[in-house]
Amino acid sequence: MPLTTAAIKDKARELGFNLCGITPAEPSPTLRAYLRWIERGMHGAMGYLARLDRVRRRQNLREIMPGAKSLILVGLDYFARFADERTLSDPSRGRIAAYAWGLDYHKVMQLRLEQFAGWLADASGKAIQQRVYVDTGALLERSHAQQAGLGFIGKNTMLIHPRRGSSFFIGEIITSLSFADYDEPHRETMCGTCTRCLAACPTDAFPKPYVLDARRCISYHTIENKGWIERELRPGFGNWIFGCDICMDVCPFQRFSEETDEVAFLPFEIDRVAPLLTNILMSTDETYRAMFRRSPIERIKREQMVRNACIAAGNWRNERAIPHLIQLLYDTSALVRGHAAWALWRTMELDASKLLSDLHRRDDDERVRAEVEALLG
Ligand code: SF4
Ligand code: SF4
Repeated sequence: MPLTTAAIKDKARELGFNLCGITPAEPSPTLRAYLRWIERGMHGAMGYLARLDRVRRRQNLREIMPGAKSLILVGLDYFARFADERTLSDPSRGRIAAYAWGLDYHKVMQLRLEQFAGWLADASGKAIQQRVYVDTGALLERSHAQQAGLGFIGKNTMLIHPRRGSSFFIGEIITSLSFADYDEPHRETMCGTCTRCLAACPTDAFPKPYVLDARRCISYHTIENKGWIERELRPGFGNWIFGCDICMDVCPFQRFSEETDEVAFLPFEIDRVAPLLTNILMSTDETYRAMFRRSPIERIKREQMVRNACIAAGNWRNERAIPHLIQLLYDTSALVRGHAAWALWRTMELDASKLLSDLHRRDDDERVRAEVEALLG
């Protein structure tokens, strides 16, 4: 008996996925918008997004897998109620985006998708080709997920399920199986006249609805950007140190988010959600690794995280951070020294002049000296 889409969806549910949709392996309808976005450089330093081989794959899924006929898209909820808004926005704490509170979702999703693919191969009873992806494939997964009926893409560029919000991970299987009854695409948008997400973004990262300029996005800078962060943007970061959920949290559809059943995504301590900034500022490579072991945060190094914490400390402007920031003026990383200088200036203002002049005198890194010059003006 041929494998039906209904049987596949039953299996997806049995494996714990909260959403599943199936769509033909056709080019994404948002491909042109994506190419325009790349052309305008809005991907920032994420050069891998603009690589020709990757663009080609996005244009044609058969470049990824020659026998590709269908895409099976799944969603897995990650929403957890762990800390109240007061704790999360406490400026003495660094805030972490909710998707990163638990264990690394790549591993959890990958394992489960591989199980799913194994079952598909057995249940189809024939030799089939399959590829499994979580975040890593060169495909426009939100757009394919919309085609598979999993939701619509909002003005905040997130995939939104009208009865579930956006707090779910997306994964996909490209398969050589084809089906007679694919899911209907979700209608294009349900945003209507709402503009909450656009208005709420503290760094004005939306030049227009449905377009996100990564170069102005806190999420991009705190995770993807390994270098210096423009001074003009830093005050808008507030206490975010890894990602940013603002444009998702303000979305009215978020009230439908359901708490995940997946224990791997439940945080087990406040340090995984909103650690004290002073703990991050004081961290060594070793303590930093221990703090975020097996979390998605592991993908950024201490240097980047301490840079982010310096920005949050510069927005906190509290004397409790001063001794740690002074110590960071001697850090081995120029990136850290420069951002610590900014945070000290924001916290101590003119009282930081002597410390910063000394740094300028002794530091042989041009970027650090330029930072201090700009501050002392
Ligand atoms: Fe703006 Fe934050 Fe959304 Fe980025 S994630 S677009 S910074 S609100
Ligand atoms: Fe659409 Fe409003 Fe949600 Fe933005 S906040 S994605 S405009 S519904």
